[in-house]
Amino acid sequence: MRVAFFSKFIKQNSVPIDKSFRETWRIIGQYKGISVWRHPEREEYIHGSVVGVCISSCIGCLKCIDACPTNVFVEFHDGQEHLAVSPEREHDCILCFACELLCPAQAIHIEQNGGSSDTLDSLLRSA
Ligand code: SF4
Ligand code: SF4
Repeated sequence: MRVAFFSKFIKQNSVPIDKSFRETWRIIGQYKGISVWRHPEREEYIHGSVVGVCISSCIGCLKCIDACPTNVFVEFHDGQEHLAVSPEREHDCILCFACELLCPAQAIHIEQNGGSSDTLDSLLRSA
């Protein structure tokens, strides 16, 4: 199964997402409509603002894709054979926190004041 397959590649030194990135990192552009943030010194990137995913921390297990009730995440390849996810539909997030809790690499941080204001609509669209 894909989760078991990608779990083999868990990086021993994977660093959790910097939860202060919205204050300390800077936006360097957009990827499919969501912001891309860069670390002030290192070449590390976070996709998303409401749903932040640290690309270098992500181990590509895809548990968040399976868990998200509103289909926020899609697979993302960084061009170096590194599989990660990007929160392309972050505006559909209903702040259930399932992804953040499940992520084995602590690569996700949810903005508690963000997310969709129409929970029912989001759920119906994903059905
Ligand atoms: S963000 Fe976390 S749960 Fe989602 S694919 Fe990456 S490591 Fe797995
Ligand atoms: S908090 Fe819930 S709805 Fe939002 S991205 Fe994570 S799993 Fe999806």
